[in-house]
Amino acid sequence: MIAELICVGTELLMGQVLNTNAHFIAKELAPSGVDMYHQIVVGDNPKRLTEAVETALSRADVVLLSGGLGPTDDDLTKETVAKALGKELVLFDDEWEKLKYWFSSRGRAIAPNNKKQAMFPADAIILENPNGTAPGCIMEADGKAAVLMPGPPRELMPMFKNLVLPWLLEKAGHRLYSREIRIFGMGESDVTYRLDELIKHQTNPTIAPYAKTGEVTLRVTARCRDDAEGEALVLPVIETIRATLGDVVYDTNGRELAEVCHHALIESGRTLAVSESCTGGRLADAFINYPGSSAYFIEGDVTYSNDAKMRRLGVRKETLDTVGAVSEECAREMAEGTRKAANTDYALSTTGYAGPDGGEPDKPVGTVFIALASEDGTIVKRLNLFGDRDRIRHAAMLNALDLLRRNICTK
Ligand code: ATP
Repeated sequence: MIAELICVGTELLMGQVLNTNAHFIAKELAPSGVDMYHQIVVGDNPKRLTEAVETALSRADVVLLSGGLGPTDDDLTKETVAKALGKELVLFDDEWEKLKYWFSSRGRAIAPNNKKQAMFPADAIILENPNGTAPGCIMEADGKAAVLMPGPPRELMPMFKNLVLPWLLEKAGHRLYSREIRIFGMGESDVTYRLDELIKHQTNPTIAPYAKTGEVTLRVTARCRDDAEGEALVLPVIETIRATLGDVVYDTNGRELAEVCHHALIESGRTLAVSESCTGGRLADAFINYPGSSAYFIEGDVTYSNDAKMRRLGVRKETLDTVGAVSEECAREMAEGTRKAANTDYALSTTGYAGPDGGEPDKPVGTVFIALASEDGTIVKRLNLFGDRDRIRHAAMLNALDLLRRNICTK
């Protein structure tokens, strides 16, 4: 099956908005077995949009469109596509009621021109839009189809994933099976460099990398008839990835780092306490986020001042006076003091310069020490992080989780 994408919006042609919808749809479509040979960007102009729709319909089975579903006069995608497919728009009463409710429940008056957002060809399939006012729709004629989606990415992305992709797959006669490989401790470029050959030559399953602060996810997606066939296609690829990347792979089922630690702690029957300086409670929150954490999480202290570090955790005054609070020694004493006070199997600590001000010549902003105390002794790690305050605090939290994960998961 061949699909073609038309992104509608003069703002895209003027460079005011980056065409992230095209990137998103192309990436989602790649593993689906639906081929896309062309993409078009066209302004809010009825004549040129008609040309684009006719061209796309002449060479594709399905034309995907983004944008131009709003209430204003220059939002003309629906009218133009309906005309090209020889269809009339009629008012869908229930969609009109939903739209009126959407406005009234927010205390806003509905404008008469909003009515066009409730108008579709009588035989259209409506695509609900829980994130905005403009529903999408599918129009079919003469064995071809047009799928109309709203322009704002936060509306289009869930609609495409939840409604359009399943519809396309059913039409194409197959389904997708995905597994997410989670990686911590290796950057995206390093991951893709090491897996270059595999990523380039893999057609089914495909491998798509996604990066977010400090972490990389590889989504391995197989085109298959059922889950069993999907799993059989995906497993050897997961094993190759794991063998190539080693222990930076922390999960192959899409779980978060904190979730992996959470389950490992529950399964091992061990307990944990944390003491935090620069992460300020994020580490405690990462665990308490998961129901059932009371089985192992004993306490979390945010000991931000030197006084609190001494008073609550027993960090030595001498340590603070000589090497300071941002030091290997302080992180060690924090973790050991916490483990002793809370009487736990594990204790994690964080202390560092999150910036933007502060730091020392040999410990600039981004220098963070994390420590893990356990019956095997205490491991301290120095991190040299970069970015703004939020990123440094987040990365420090993730590194502390990874330190625990590496220790507990090898037991
Ligand atoms: P609305 O109901 O909000 O008017 P719409 O379907 O009419 O939605 P447009 O008016 O075309 O959508 O676009 C609304 C906004 O969505 C644009 O200003 C832009 O910020 C964003 N947008 C539109 N198309 C894209 C795209 N291809 N990639 C990224 N963002 C887009």
